[in-house]
Amino acid sequence: MTEAQDSLPQPHSRQPPWRRGARWLLPLAVWMALMAAYGEWVYRRAVTNQVADMHRNLEVLLPALESAITRYQDFPYAVARDRLAWDFLADPHNLHMQDKFDPYLQDVNRRLATELLMLLDVRGQVVSSSDWQTRKADAPENYADRPEFKQARAGRLGLDYAVDESTGLAGLRIAHPVQNGDTVIGVMVLTVRLDAVQDAWRLRGAPVVLTDNRGIVFLSSQPDWLYTATRPLNPDAIQQLAASRKYGRDRAFAPIPWKLSRQNGDEHYQLSARIEGAQRDFLALDSRLDAWDWTLTQTSDLAFARRTRWSAIAFATLACGFVLFGALYLRQREKRFSELRAARQQLEQRVRERTKDLEDEVSFRKAMEDSLLVGVRARDLEGHIIYVNPAMCEITGYRADELLGRLPPYPYWHPDETEKSWADNNAALSGRAMLTGTESRFRHRDGHDVFCMIYTAPLVDAAGTHKGWLNSVVDITAQKRAEEQQRLHVEQMQRTGRLASLGEMASTLAHEINQPLMAMASFASAARIYCEQNKPTLLIENLDAIKDQALRARGIIDRIRMTARQQTPGLQPCNLQEVVVNVLALLRFDLRQRKARVVTHYANHLPSVNADRVLLEQVVMNLVVNGLQAMQATPAQRRVVDIRVGFDATQAFIRVADNGTGIAPEIAGQLFQAFFTTKLDGLGLGLKICRTILEGHGGRLEFENSPQGGAVFTIFLPIAI
Ligand code: ADP
Repeated sequence: MTEAQDSLPQPHSRQPPWRRGARWLLPLAVWMALMAAYGEWVYRRAVTNQVADMHRNLEVLLPALESAITRYQDFPYAVARDRLAWDFLADPHNLHMQDKFDPYLQDVNRRLATELLMLLDVRGQVVSSSDWQTRKADAPENYADRPEFKQARAGRLGLDYAVDESTGLAGLRIAHPVQNGDTVIGVMVLTVRLDAVQDAWRLRGAPVVLTDNRGIVFLSSQPDWLYTATRPLNPDAIQQLAASRKYGRDRAFAPIPWKLSRQNGDEHYQLSARIEGAQRDFLALDSRLDAWDWTLTQTSDLAFARRTRWSAIAFATLACGFVLFGALYLRQREKRFSELRAARQQLEQRVRERTKDLEDEVSFRKAMEDSLLVGVRARDLEGHIIYVNPAMCEITGYRADELLGRLPPYPYWHPDETEKSWADNNAALSGRAMLTGTESRFRHRDGHDVFCMIYTAPLVDAAGTHKGWLNSVVDITAQKRAEEQQRLHVEQMQRTGRLASLGEMASTLAHEINQPLMAMASFASAARIYCEQNKPTLLIENLDAIKDQALRARGIIDRIRMTARQQTPGLQPCNLQEVVVNVLALLRFDLRQRKARVVTHYANHLPSVNADRVLLEQVVMNLVVNGLQAMQATPAQRRVVDIRVGFDATQAFIRVADNGTGIAPEIAGQLFQAFFTTKLDGLGLGLKICRTILEGHGGRLEFENSPQGGAVFTIFLPIAI
C-alpha cells in the first residue's frame, strides 16, 4: 500500500519536462522575432545615419580635394605670362636663356612646394624643367600625346592625373598655354602631388578612393588598391591606357579586391574587403566630380551599424530582463502581499470569530452568573471586592457599585457577629478557609438576617498568578428555617405521639375490655333469669361463661400491659382452625342476637403458625365483629360471614368475607389510622390494633371489596418451620 502510494507520480511531475519547457517556446520565439525585428530596425537606422554622415563628410572631402586641385590651378598661368617665358620660347636654343629659365622654374617649383614645373614648346618638347639638375636621362622629353598638353595647346586649361613614367611619381598635371596674343607659343605644365589628400583619407579609418572615368583607382587611402579597376576594362581601353602611359608602364589594372552588394533603389551600397588581414564590411557612397569626370567613393565601417544593432538588442534584452524581473518581482511582491493580505484577513476572521466566541462566552457566563442563585464575590489579595454578581446583591441588599472596591468590614456583616466575621475574613484572605465552607450570618440592608454558607477558592489568572479569592455565597436562610420548623415539628410530634400513645393505650384498653364486659353483662342477665326460673344447668353454664369472659378480660389487660412495657408477645404454635373455632364460640351470643350466620372452610393439613393465641383470636374476633356490624342493613338471610382458612408454600391465611357495605374508595386509605371510624359508637382502633398485632407476628393484613358486594379482610401469617 505504502509502496503503491510512494510510486504515485506527484501532480507537478506528470508532464514530461519537454512539455513543461514547450510552453516557453512560443513566447521565446515571439520574443526572438521581436528582438530580430527591433535589431533590424536599429541596424537600418544606423545605416541611414551612417549614409547621412557620409553625405556630410562630402562637405569636407570634396572641398579638400577641390582645394588641393584648384589651389595651384592658376600658377602655371602666372608663370606662363612671364615675358621671360615668351623670350625663351622664341629662342629655345639660347643657352643663356636656358641658364636663366631653368633656375627660375626650379625656384618657383620649390617655393610652391609642387612636384614639377615644366615649359613645353608647341610640339610638346620639354624646353625647361624645374628638375633640370636632377632630371633622369630616361625622363620623357615630349608630352605631345598627353591630354593636358593637348588641351593647353588648344588654348584651354589642361588637367590630368598621371604617373610620371621615369620617376613613378603620381600627380595632377595642370597645363596652361603660354600665349603671345592669341597664338599659343608653348605650354606651362605644373605637376602637383595629391599625397596630402590621400594621407588625410587614411586617417578616416574607412577606405576612400578616387576613380577616373574608366573606373581606375588613382587616389586611395588603401595603397594596394591604387591602379586597380572598379569596373571591368575592355581590351581597347587597356591598350589605350598602356599607350598613353597615363598610369606608367606595365599596369595590369587588376579588379579592385572588394565585393559589392547593392540593393535596388539605394544610392549607397555594401562592400566587403580584406584590410590589413581582416575581412571587413563597409557602406559605400559614390559622389561624382563632374568637373573632372571622376568618382569619389567613400566608405563607412558597417561594424558600427552592426555593433549598434547588437548593442540595441543587448540593451533591449537587458531592459526586457529588467522589466521582466521587475514584473516578476512585482508579481512575487503582489503574491506575497496577497498572501499577507489573505493571512491578515484570515487572522482578522479568526480574531472576529474568537472575539465572537469570547463575546458569546462572556454573555453566556454573564447570563449564567446573573441567573445563579448562588452569590459570587471576588476579592483581591488585600480584600477589596472586585466583583459581585446579581445574586450577591440580592442576598445582601446592596448594589454592585456600593460593594465594589470596599474593604472589610463589609456593610452586610452582622453586627452581632463582627468578631466571627473578622476571624473568618482573615482566615479566608490568608488561605486558611475551610474547604467545607463557613457558615455565616449577614445583615440584609433592610434589616433581616440572612444565613449563608461561604465557600472560598483561590482566584488565579490565565498566567497562573494568584490574584485573590473567589467566594460563592449560598443563601441557606430558607433551609435554616425549614430545619428549625422541622425540629419544632419533630418536637411537636414527639409530644403529640406521647399523648397519642397514652390515649391510644387507654382507648385500646377500653375497646378490648368492652367486649368481655358486655358479654359478661349479657351472661349475668341470662343467669339471673335462669336463677329465677330455677334452671341450674343453664345457670351454671352462664356463670361459667361469665368466668371465661372475666378471665379473657384479664388476659387482655395482661397483654396490653406487656405491650406497654415493650415486651414481645408469647409466641407458640397455633392451629388457625382452633383459633377460628374459639372466636366463633365467644361470639355465639352476638351471632344469635344479630341473626347472622358464619360459614367456615378449613383446608386439610393446615400448618401451624407461631403466634400469641389470645392476640390472634382478638384479631379474628375484631374482623368478624366488623363484618357483622357492616351487615346491619343487609337482609337477615344474607347476613353471612364467610371464613376460609388455607395456606400456600410460605404462609397461612384466614380470609373473612361479609355481605356488608364494603369499603368506600374515599375511606380506603384511612382504615388503619387510629381513631378513624364511620360508626357512631366506634373508636376507630380495631383495625389499627389488628395490623400492629399481625406485624408483631411477621404477618400482614390486607383488604379488598368483593365483586359480589361486601368487604374481604385477609390475615397472612408465616408458616411455623
Ligand atoms: P370501629 O369498629 O371502632 O369503627 P375499626 O378500626 O374496627 O373501628 O374500623 C374502622 C372502620 O372501618 C369502621 O368504622 C368501618 O367504617 C370500617 N370497616 C371495618 N370493617 C369493615 C367491614 N367489614 N365492612 C365495612 N366497613 C368496615
